Amino acid sequence: MLYVVATPIGNMQDMTLRAIEVLKSVDKIAAEDTRHSKTLLNHFMINRPMISLHEFNERECMDMLLEHLDKGETLALICDAGTPLISDPGYHLIKEAKARGVKVVPIPGACAAIAALSVAGLPTDHFVFEGFLPARQEACRARLKELLYETRTLIFYEAPHRLLDSLQAMVDVLGADRVAVVARELTKIHESVIYSTLGELLEQYSAHPDKQRGEIVILVHGTEQKSGESILINPDHVLDVLLEELPLKQAAALAAKITGERKNALYEKALGKKGE
Ligand code: SAM
Repeated sequence: MLYVVATPIGNMQDMTLRAIEVLKSVDKIAAEDTRHSKTLLNHFMINRPMISLHEFNERECMDMLLEHLDKGETLALICDAGTPLISDPGYHLIKEAKARGVKVVPIPGACAAIAALSVAGLPTDHFVFEGFLPARQEACRARLKELLYETRTLIFYEAPHRLLDSLQAMVDVLGADRVAVVARELTKIHESVIYSTLGELLEQYSAHPDKQRGEIVILVHGTEQKSGESILINPDHVLDVLLEELPLKQAAALAAKITGERKNALYEKALGKKGE
């Protein structure tokens, strides 16, 4: 038996009774960072042997864990915070364990994406979890462009030092007027959930570096434009496409004709894009 156990994302009181019971009962606990998890386990007086399973040793560690499972031992998988496998290690282990007929049991609990979505005030009937955007600027923008016409609510995880870069990229690609939410430090003392537009969020967080700290989920309203129609009215997208084929001046002039935007403004924008 392999239990996949969610732990709190900040507030210890979000640990479930079932999680405590299961973690006290298993033969071994596989944890992402054993030193970090020791604090949580000590708090709940859970004292079981631990094995470290992190992003960089998952494949090697997996064989060892599967051997334990083959011997009939019961294991639990936890991560540093929240639900294992959600932007955290464990996928390969679960896949292989299931293929070998091991019973895999979820012990549900906190997950930052779902906690953020539940209070964001954005549509929840359909949503897409995107995890972390690529760190490289080009790859990040390329991913956002693929999401330009996504109608479902988008959920991103973000590191504090990348908040402004990501908001800037979202403003450039998805547009400053798109409604979005930044959910920060959920379940902790400095919890904040700010609902605004991407442009205003960028302004607000640029002006307050102290508020960029902590753990962050960014949620973005899906587009309400129909694909095809919107290509004609999104000046950024039009400019990007034309810049791939034409000299800067010509691209700006054509983009102005297509979108109705001012030629000079588009020329400035094109200069910025080429300078990146
Ligand atoms: N497995 C975790 C879960 O279930 O949410 C996510 C792990 S991922 C490595 C860490 C990211 O989750 C952080 O960079 C942040 O984007 C988000 N996160 C975790 N705890 C959070 C919190 N208390 N408030 C806001 N975001 C949080």
